[in-house]
Amino acid sequence: MYDLIIIGGGPGGLTAAIYGARFGLSTLVLEKQAAGGQINLTESIENYPGFDEPIFGYELSQKMERQALKFGAKIIYEEVIDVDFSKEIKIVKTNENQYSSRTVIISTGAYPKRLFIPGEEEYIGRGISFCGTCDGPLFKGKKVAVIGGGDTALEESIIISKWAEKVYLIHRRDRFKGQKILQEKVFNNNKIKILFNCVPLEFYGEQLIKGVKIKKILADNKEEISNLSIDGVFIFIGHLPNTKIFEGKVELSDEGFIKVDRNMKTNVSGIYACGDVVEKELRQVTISVGEGALAAYEAYKYVQK
Ligand code: NAP
Repeated sequence: MYDLIIIGGGPGGLTAAIYGARFGLSTLVLEKQAAGGQINLTESIENYPGFDEPIFGYELSQKMERQALKFGAKIIYEEVIDVDFSKEIKIVKTNENQYSSRTVIISTGAYPKRLFIPGEEEYIGRGISFCGTCDGPLFKGKKVAVIGGGDTALEESIIISKWAEKVYLIHRRDRFKGQKILQEKVFNNNKIKILFNCVPLEFYGEQLIKGVKIKKILADNKEEISNLSIDGVFIFIGHLPNTKIFEGKVELSDEGFIKVDRNMKTNVSGIYACGDVVEKELRQVTISVGEGALAAYEAYKYVQK
């Protein structure tokens, strides 16, 4: 039996592991893929304090993983498929084993939202991608569309423009939601053409994607439909939480994010959550790591009691 099981090895989970292990808790991290979570898909991180030069996402996650292991946390690569939080000893089942623990921290993160328009499902992997860092190099000298107006869409447009000849940044409103510093970089990048007030309606092509049908909202509620020829599409319209297995086990928001109090406690005693899976407004690596530390501290106090 463990004192603390952390489900998910992203920045929040790994920070909780560092703190949990340093508090002397026997600490296990269960991660289904690779430690680091979504930051592995981020090319470089510029706003993580202490790194005055950008650091690669995967490099930062490897450092966090090594640090957690150094302090004695254990990391096992198995997918959690069910949990039982109904008794004092919590049960966590993976595809291979069953583990028990006094406390659990949920840090399962989030996954990219879909547009749910015709052609989207069909062309995923045949021109449609959700990761610029991973798939951007495939579009060297080509034309691509990026959909979204938040930090991810802005940041990824800049990254993709290193390879693509032209990036059409398609956003449904007349202004971006993302940070000003990223907006400025996008506005000053002559490879990026911004298409405001534009809604993608459909993706089309043959074996591979060839274009996107777009509706432009004009003044007086008029609309204009056009086809944009492109070789690839990157969709960055936000995230949804990985909380399917926690439905009915802890309190979730309407969108499925985990509700926590200011000390990262869920509504179930001994269960905490941190990182992008938590209901909140701003999702940042810096915020996830703070939450991870706090969640581990709460778990420590609970075990002490
Ligand atoms: P986000 O902030 O939720 O932005 C999603 C964007 O997609 C919004 O502009 C939204 O439009 C648009 N959108 C949503 N649904 C759409 C639909 N069905 N059709 C067309 N457009 C749609 O998501 P995100 O950019 O992935 O960022 C997630 C979190 O990570 C944020 O908290 C962000 O700050 C953080 N993040 C930070 C950094 C960084 O600090 N460098 C980098 C990446 C992400 P509206 O504007 O109209 O709502």
